[in-house]
Amino acid sequence: MADCIFCKLANHEIPTTIVYEDDLVAAFDDANPQAPVHTLVVPKGHYENIVDGVPGEVLEHMALAVKKVAEAKGLTDGFRVIANTGAAAGQTVMHLHWHVLGGTDLGENLV
Ligand code: AMP
Ligand code: ZN
Repeated sequence: MADCIFCKLANHEIPTTIVYEDDLVAAFDDANPQAPVHTLVVPKGHYENIVDGVPGEVLEHMALAVKKVAEAKGLTDGFRVIANTGAAAGQTVMHLHWHVLGGTDLGENLV
């Protein structure tokens, strides 16, 4: 999709440090980290969010990417995955992404 920053990052049109990628998904670090580890897992194809007809195969690859990110970042004690979906949830980039947060004790607030 034209002018979508995450399309460009995931497809190497804008340089970034890729934490993990395969043919369907990519993972790169968030530009404004909210935890010592804050990596985004995104599909290479454009879907607005998780309720935008995302193929099961893409979701499967995203789940595998979460595991790969956790391994690459050494998140052996646990981590949190968040998918802000829509305006009321504070979604600001309208390209599906899962936040992978960790590297500290995240506590029990906000689920
Ligand atoms: P959300 O509020 O769930 O839509 O999250 C969007 C996330 O994208 C925020 O955590 C931003 O810091 C992050 N972000 C925005 N632009 C970039 C970028 N160019 N590279 C990496 N992360 C970005
Ligand atoms: Zn996009």
